[in-house]
This record gives sequence, C-alpha cells and structure tokens, in this order.
Amino acid sequence: MKYYSLNQQSSKVTFKEATILGQAPDKGLYYPEYLPVVDPQLIDRIESMSDVDIAFEIMKPYVAGSLNNEELYSIVKETVSFPIPLQPVTNNISSLELFHGPTLAFKDIGARFMSRCLGHFLKNEEREVTVLVATSGDTGGAVANGFYGVKNVNVVILYPKGRVSPVQEKQLTTLGKNITALEVDGTFDDCQKMAKQAFADADINKKKFLTSANSINVARWLPQQVYYFLAYKQWKQKEQKPVVCVPSGNFGNICAGLLAKVTGLPLGHFIAACNVNDIVSHYLQTQELKPKEATATLSNAMDVGNPSNFVRIIELFHQQFPDLKNNLSADTISDEDTVETITKVYKESGYTLDPHGAVAYLALDKYLQQHPMKKALYWKQRIP
Ligand SMILES: *Cc1c(COP(=O)(O)O)cnc(C)c1O
Repeated sequence: MKYYSLNQQSSKVTFKEATILGQAPDKGLYYPEYLPVVDPQLIDRIESMSDVDIAFEIMKPYVAGSLNNEELYSIVKETVSFPIPLQPVTNNISSLELFHGPTLAFKDIGARFMSRCLGHFLKNEEREVTVLVATSGDTGGAVANGFYGVKNVNVVILYPKGRVSPVQEKQLTTLGKNITALEVDGTFDDCQKMAKQAFADADINKKKFLTSANSINVARWLPQQVYYFLAYKQWKQKEQKPVVCVPSGNFGNICAGLLAKVTGLPLGHFIAACNVNDIVSHYLQTQELKPKEATATLSNAMDVGNPSNFVRIIELFHQQFPDLKNNLSADTISDEDTVETITKVYKESGYTLDPHGAVAYLALDKYLQQHPMKKALYWKQRIP
C-alpha cells in the first residue's frame, strides 16, 4: 500500500515512510492510494473472531509491503490488549467504552499501534527520531505510555500549565527514560504553536529528526477503525444498522469510522458531536471550512478550532458534498447542556458520563427524537 499527500505536491510513500514522516513534505496529510474492501465473510463471522484477529485482518492491507503478517500480528496483539465493551444504557442507546486502556482515554489504541510500528521500523537503524507532541491532556498520556522504553525514539511533550488534570500530569511527568514532559506557561494553542514552529525550524531539523504523534500520522489514525468493528461485533440487532455518534475534536476517530463504513462495515448514519467549536457544523450548512481560534470548554479534548482530519473525510467522499452530507451530520452542544446531560443520564439510568461522553449522548438523543425508530451507539472515550 502506498500513501499520497492530499496536497498533491509530494511523491507517494510506503506505510513505513508515512509513519516515520508523519506529515508529507508538502505539509499535506497522507491518504491510502486505494481503499481496500472489507471481506464480506469477515462481517458474517465477526462474532466468532477474537478482537486481535479482527484488528489484524483490518490493518493488513494498510501496512502491506511494510510489515509482514508475523510482525503485524505481534504489534496488533500488544495494541488490542484490553476489553472494549459495548454497554446498553437505554432501550435504544448503547455506549462503546473506550476507556479501559492504560491511560483511561481512547487514544491508547492509536498511540500503542503507532509506537510499536515506529519502534519496529527504527529497530535496526542508526537514526533516532524525536516525537514532538502538544497535548491538552489525553494525547500526551497515551503517547508517553505507548512510547515508553521504545528504542531509538525520544518523546517530548508540551502541555499547558494548570490545564491538565492532576492524574494526567502524573501520566506525563513520572515515566522518565525516553519521555520528557515540558510544562508551558500558556494555553494548549501556545503549545501547538511551539510544536509547529519546531517542525518548521531548519536548525532544529538539522540536529534532530522530528515527527508528530497526533492523528495526522497514518499509524495513529488507521487503527482507530478497529473500534467500529469491535462495536459491530457486539451489536446484537444485526438486521438494523446502528446510528453512530462520535465526540469529535480533530476528527481522526470519526474519520476512521467513516473509512470502515465506506469500505464495507454495515453502519448507519454518522453524527459528529462537537462542543461550541463548531467548524464542521458550519461546513455542513455552508460548504465552507473556516478554521477559527479554539474556545475552551468542559470537553477540553475536543477544543479544536481547525480539525486537521476533516480533509480526509472530504477525500473519502471524493469531494462530493451531497454524498458527504448524506452520511454525516454534526451537532454543537453547550457546556450548560453538557452538565445537565450528565445529571439527567445519571438520574435516569445510573450511568456516569464524562463531559466528552455527555456531548455525544445529547447529540445522539436529539437525533433519535427526530428518528425514533433507529437504534444507536455512541463512543464514550474517557473515564468519568
Ligand atoms: C482526543 C479526544 C477526543 C477527540 O478525538 P478526535 O479523534 O481528535 O476527534 C474526544 N474525546 C476524548 C475523551 C479525547 O481524548
């Protein structure tokens, strides 16, 4: 499998090169040169397959030429090593719990897969790579945990002072070894700016090979498809495709889900649940993608003013706006409604939501009021 840059100015690369580079030299995102169709037999017998076997089959075409079967299998086995249960919450809403990994947020799957791949690709090489990442909390923890002890990889994490939770700060700062966490006197956007400056700095890049570990990297983006297959495996009413609602920030996760759907996984309509950072809602109404400064909210892992992966979603639907709109809607939930939803759901079902999960729950609830016959899933991505 080769990957091309969505900016069309760089040459195609292998999965290995795309993983090491992160972003294409023309600053575009890498995208698979063709979309492999999911074997219908896999869908038919998915309930009898192990989670690791499912992940292996799904990832195989995407890494072809860069990892052999044995290498991929061992990476997948280390990645999918905790349960991802589907919990019924009401009659028609179930919650896919993605917080049972080591850092208690859903980014563990992507970060672990990417770290194992990068470690494998650099194992027998002289060069060292520095992974530089800005975090508002969850990414840093997952990346630190995933890359801890990986040979030839150093990790530098920039996090905003006083704006990550005490648990997250410990996840970032207590590992040591190849993980360095730097507290920045500023906001997440300031951290992001510093990272971007470093990536563009010729002097730094002469001394260090820098790469990024956010969902721009194909090795972090693509394995997120696995959640959707594991959700479908546990979905009992196979005769009815589930509506899928995903709390979204940088749109990596939901883009992976749409990729799974387009390549053959029987899923219904997708809803991108957002906080007041409503760039995609606005796009779906106006067909105009207008990035803006991020606004801080309670669901801080979704405070993104320029969702990088959205260009991949546009590509997935061949730039056909009507087709995209048929498959995806977006909703914007305020902090006030987020808090109210946490209380309401706890009172009615005894189920505890975190702010990110609550944004998704309410967006889905609103959709189901307009489409009462549907059954649905939403992603609960962080421990309450
Ligand atoms: C990272 C994160 C998100 C946003 O995911 P994207 O793939 O960037 O859209 C949402 N919720 C939680 C809890 C997160 O950690």
